[in-house]
Amino acid sequence: MTRFSAWNVFRNGLSGQKGWDRQWRDVEPKADYDVVIVGGGIHGLATAYYLAKKHGLKNIAVLEKGWIGGGNAGRNTTIVRSNYFRPGNREFYEHSLKLWENLSHDLNYNVMFSQRGHVSLLHSPGAVDAAARGYNTLRLTGSDAEIWGLEELKQEIPHLNYAANARFPILGAAVQRRAGTARHDAVVWGYARAADQLGVDIIQNCEVLGVRRDQGRITGLDTSRGAIGGSKIGFSVAGNTSRLWDMAGLGTLPIESHKLQAFVTEPLKPLLDHVVVFGVGGTHFYISQSDKGGMVFGGDLDWYKSYAQRGNLPIVQDVSECALSILPCLGRVRLLRHWSGVCDMSMDGSHFICKTPLDNLYLNAGWNYGGFKAGPGAGWFFADLIANDRPHEIVAEHDLKRFERGYNIDERGAGPDPKLHG
Ligand SMILES: Cc1cc2nc3c(=O)[nH]c(=O)nc-3n(C[C@H](O)[C@H](O)[C@H](O)COP(=O)(O)OP(=O)(O)OC[C@H]3O[C@@H](n4cnc5c(N)ncnc54)[C@H](O)[C@@H]3O)c2cc1C
Repeated sequence: MTRFSAWNVFRNGLSGQKGWDRQWRDVEPKADYDVVIVGGGIHGLATAYYLAKKHGLKNIAVLEKGWIGGGNAGRNTTIVRSNYFRPGNREFYEHSLKLWENLSHDLNYNVMFSQRGHVSLLHSPGAVDAAARGYNTLRLTGSDAEIWGLEELKQEIPHLNYAANARFPILGAAVQRRAGTARHDAVVWGYARAADQLGVDIIQNCEVLGVRRDQGRITGLDTSRGAIGGSKIGFSVAGNTSRLWDMAGLGTLPIESHKLQAFVTEPLKPLLDHVVVFGVGGTHFYISQSDKGGMVFGGDLDWYKSYAQRGNLPIVQDVSECALSILPCLGRVRLLRHWSGVCDMSMDGSHFICKTPLDNLYLNAGWNYGGFKAGPGAGWFFADLIANDRPHEIVAEHDLKRFERGYNIDERGAGPDPKLHG
């Protein structure tokens, strides 16, 4: 595989770009693997990569029913941050952010990680106090966090709606400067290319249709490309987790599949060089500007359960209203596209990286609508679980039995309602 380097870019510039290899092989599935990961999103591919790179496993396959990155990995608003507060979550997301910070070098692939800062607007003295408490916790535990007053915020982002008579006047912001955005498909391709180089078989157009069981173990997977066996199986299928769980005959899960939409406008000249979050009084809105100039934004879930990768019109109205509340200058900008992904919403808003009732089945799920930033960390900890057959202490509480233990990991304090967690 030709490495990406200044020298190779220069050399190929002189030779008609003919010296580059395929980014990953297109292989026929083998009958048997040591580890089979179902799901070719960022999580599945990152897991395969760390299994090969960190744990030295050789015989690994990633099965993807469509094309890699065709699920939520390629549909999200690409916000990466680590401003989580609950024990376990805090360490997990900080670890993931650190992996992001070196990812382009590690993968030898430019994932366009842009640490432009994540700015959560604050609209009441109570919100400022609560943010100060939470963000101080981040600083005390080795992450970065700042509270900006109004003057500092105006200097950094002058064109927000600072009207004193706005429905929700802006008082300041909670900021994580190391947070930002990345190019989602580049991350998927980068992990795929790096995993392939380590011998991982990435098998696209390979849908798992059935799970064969013998008592407490999975003996094989029936797929659209034939039967495939694996000594260890990992499910990493985001919004389709309940379907795979059902195929394995395991009953119900504390997960619901909800849709989340994202939106992009026509390209504009540079307007916003931060990620800005507006969430008060039932609103939830986040916006950034892509490298191509489009304003990329999103809001709340569609409020009903579905496996369809398309969304409804009321949310279009909702996010447009939010956009104009904080950035009235967007009023005449045209919306170019909007789309949806299927999110695996858990009952407390936190994830599962855990063993399951079946000996050789491992679960990575419950990412709600925050699993893009988690991708490198989830791959790292899921690989660690599969390789060592025990959870790392940072994800030890993130199992399916935590609800039986009464240990909810509920960042927002929203209660056991999946559609209220984000
Ligand atoms: C609109 C939107 C905006 C979001 N914004 C953000 C954000 O700004 N920041 C953030 O951190 N997170 C965000 N998220 C969440 C994030 O995208 C997801 O949590 C994360 O991508 C999920 O992990 P994944 O990438 O592995 O999932 P996916 O990319 O969905 O991967 C799962 C794969 O499994 C495959 N699959 C399913 N069933 C089968 C089967 N039977 N056989 C074989 N393969 C199968 C699917 O085709 C899919 O490719 C957003 C999500 C959406 C939808």
